[in-house]
Amino acid sequence: MSTWAGDKPRARPCRTCRLDSIDGSLLVEHPELWRVEAWKFGELYRCSNCGRHWFLHEHRRKISRIHDTLLSLAQHWNRSRLVLNTSQLSVLASIGGVVDYYKDYVAIPCSARNVSGQQHHKAIVLVARQPPHFWYEPQMVHWADELISVVPSPFALPLEVRRASREKREESMGFAPVGIVDKQGKEYTLGWYGEFFDKQGIRGEEIRLSGRRKRWREIVRPEPAEAYYFVDWFDRCEGMLVSG
Ligand SMILES: [Zn+2]
Repeated sequence: MSTWAGDKPRARPCRTCRLDSIDGSLLVEHPELWRVEAWKFGELYRCSNCGRHWFLHEHRRKISRIHDTLLSLAQHWNRSRLVLNTSQLSVLASIGGVVDYYKDYVAIPCSARNVSGQQHHKAIVLVARQPPHFWYEPQMVHWADELISVVPSPFALPLEVRRASREKREESMGFAPVGIVDKQGKEYTLGWYGEFFDKQGIRGEEIRLSGRRKRWREIVRPEPAEAYYFVDWFDRCEGMLVSG
């Protein structure tokens, strides 16, 4: 049990809770983080200094702070069983996903329509073993059971570009350049990992790898996603969704 008595965290985060995540090996140096209970794919912790919540990943290689505005969504994630049907999975397998470094999620860009009638042409299905935590905007978080249709997005970068971007090592401060080119032969540099491209009428589906390795041209930031649809990680999801 946490020693923090109140339901609501203190207004000001403590020093620890100003961080977004901590390496799992350093958890012993943070006795203020108390284990609350087992969660889906991990454990819930709470800070005894200021009452903020943290998620210890199943692999225990890091613990991530759950932003206050996302706590109710993270709790919903923990209580829910988030699965897709076979035809949705087969569309996503044909698009192909990329897995993150810790294998916390497979991300597949798509065009999605949900039960509220919203259409997101820049949506990402996240087959995840982590809840929405510190960096998602709450209105961008959606669930597998809201999905009505999933189809390829014209704004999504091809799998080979996303894969190259994910595998590219940083050259400096997060900058991991990958050379790309549109159908007219105009070159750009995708400076950071991203799933979508939408610039001056050029869309992701028209982009290919350029093969450029230096003297980077026109550095672009990745086009942000409009929505994230959380799906529970399952056995074989990498083999089904990542191999392309
Ligand atoms: Zn704290």
